[in-house]
Amino acid sequence: MAAALTLEQWEARAGALSFRHLAFVGGRFVPALSGKTFSRLSPADGRLLTQVSACEAEDVDHAVAAARKAFDSGSWSRMAPRGRKKILLRFADLMRKHADELALLETLDMGKPISDSLAVDVPAAANTIQWYAEAIDKVYDEIAPTAHNALGLVTREPVGVVAAVVPWNFPLLMACWKLGPALATGNSVVLKPAEQSPLTALRLAEIAAEAGLPDGVLNVVPGFGETAGAALGLHMDVDAVTFTGSTQVGKYFLEYAGRSNMKLVSLECGGKSPHIVMADCGDLELAATKAAWGIFFNQGEVCTAGSRLLVEEPIKEEFLDRLARVTATIQPGNPLDPATKMGAIVDEKQMKRVLGYIETGRADGGEIRLGGKRARIESGGYYIEPTVFDKVSPTARIAQEEIFGPVLSTITFNGLDEAIRIGNGTIYGLASAIWTKDIDKALKAARALRAGLVWINGWDEDDITVPFGGVKQSGTGRDRSLHAMEKYTQLKSTWISIR
Ligand code: NAD
Repeated sequence: MAAALTLEQWEARAGALSFRHLAFVGGRFVPALSGKTFSRLSPADGRLLTQVSACEAEDVDHAVAAARKAFDSGSWSRMAPRGRKKILLRFADLMRKHADELALLETLDMGKPISDSLAVDVPAAANTIQWYAEAIDKVYDEIAPTAHNALGLVTREPVGVVAAVVPWNFPLLMACWKLGPALATGNSVVLKPAEQSPLTALRLAEIAAEAGLPDGVLNVVPGFGETAGAALGLHMDVDAVTFTGSTQVGKYFLEYAGRSNMKLVSLECGGKSPHIVMADCGDLELAATKAAWGIFFNQGEVCTAGSRLLVEEPIKEEFLDRLARVTATIQPGNPLDPATKMGAIVDEKQMKRVLGYIETGRADGGEIRLGGKRARIESGGYYIEPTVFDKVSPTARIAQEEIFGPVLSTITFNGLDEAIRIGNGTIYGLASAIWTKDIDKALKAARALRAGLVWINGWDEDDITVPFGGVKQSGTGRDRSLHAMEKYTQLKSTWISIR
C-alpha cells in the first residue's frame, strides 16, 4: 500500500502504467475477432487512456466455449474444495499485492477518488474473494428426513457456465461479488465489464491466472451492452446470468432468458432509497453527516445512494443547515489527489444525464439549496457540484427516477405513516433508513419499508456476512453472504432405495 503517495507521484505512476486492453479468453489475452476497439477516455480530464477490444457475439461464443471446456474438464469444477480454496486465497493475496495498481486503474478508468479505491474498493474486493475461499469447505449438503426405506441426498452442484455482467460504479468490487461465490462453487465464468470501466477486470483475470486458476475458468469480454452483453444473455450455452446494473437492462436479461434457454437470471438493479429523518432523531449532526455521505459518496454513483431525504417538517431547516456544512467538505477534485473526497463522473454522457435531471428538478418546482452546476470545467473532465434540492414533490421526476449522480431531493412529511407511504412510493426497493429514538417507530418502519436493506440510526453499514440486494424493481437476487452461493448452484435430489 502506498496511501502516502502525493498527487505528483500518482500521476507519475499513471504515466508509467500499461493497460491490459485485449479480451481474456481461455487463459490468454486475445483481440476481438473483428479487430474493433473502443476508446476509454479519462473522466478526470477527457484524455484518451487506451483503446480496448470491442467484443461481439463471435468473441462471446469463444469465451463461452472456453468456459464450457474448462467446466466439463473438471479442472476446476471437480477440484477438491480445498484445492479451490488454496487458489482463491492466493488470488486474494495477489490482489492485495497489486493493490496500488488496481486502485490506480480503477480511479483512472471511472473517476473515483484514489483514496476510496485504496481504502474501500480494492480491500473489499480482495476480502470478498478471501471470504468465499474460506467458505468453500465449510458448507455441507443435506440428507432429507425421509422414511426408513430410502435415503434422500440433497446436494448442491455448480450451474456450469455463468455470465457475470457488471456496471461501472464499482467495477472491481461488483466483479468480485460475482466471482467470489461463482468460482467458490466450481463454476466457470465469462465476465463482461461495463464499457465505461473495463480495465480492472482485465488485470484481475491475469492475476487470477497467476494465482493458479485453470485456463478458461475466468474469461473477460470487454464490449458494449447491446453486443457482448446481449450475446451473453441470449447464449444457449450460458447456464446462469448474474447481473448488476440498471432496472431497464435487468428486464432485458429476463427477456433474453425467455427467448433463449431459460437460463437462471439474478438481478441487482437500481434504487431510489429513502433516508427518513424523524423529528425525534436524536443525533442530528450524525444523521446529517450520514445523509450527506449517503448521497455524495462515489459521486452519487451508488445503487443504494440515499437520494431521497425525507425529513420531518419541524426539523427541516436545521437539518439542511447541518447537511450544508458537511457537504461543504465534499467538493469535486482531481481523483488522483489523495485529498479528494469526490471525484469525476464516469463519462460525458452520464454527466449530461445528471445535469439534465438538475434542470428537470428546477422546472418541476424544486428549489436548489446547494450546487446545481458543472464543476472544474477547465480540467476537461466531467465534474458536478454536490447538489441539494429542497421542496421536492414526492411524485416529481427527480424524486422518482434514479439519477445516479450527486443530486439529493429533499421531501418533507409529518408523521411516520406519511414517511413510509412516501418512502415506498417508487418502483424501487433497494435500501432505506430511518433515524428515530423511538424503538416502536424504528421497528414499525423496518417492517413496513419495502426494501432489501433497512438501516436504523445509521447508513451504509455493510459486511460480507450480510446479504445485499433489493425487492420490487431493484432486483431479484442477493450478493454477499453464504446466500449468494445459492444462485450459482442447483439443487440435486438423489434417492437411494434401501431394501
Ligand atoms: P447498465 O444497466 O447500463 O449496464 C450494466 C451492464 O449491462 C454493463 O456491463 C452494460 O454493458 C450491460 N448492458 C447495457 N445494455 C445492455 C443490453 N442491452 N444488453 C445486455 N447488456 C447490456 O448500468 P450502468 O449504467 O453500468 O450502472 C448503473 C446501474 O447499476 C444503476 O442503475 C445502479 O443502481 C445499478 N447498480 C446496482 C447495484 C446493486 O447491487 N443493486 C450495484 C451497483 C450498481
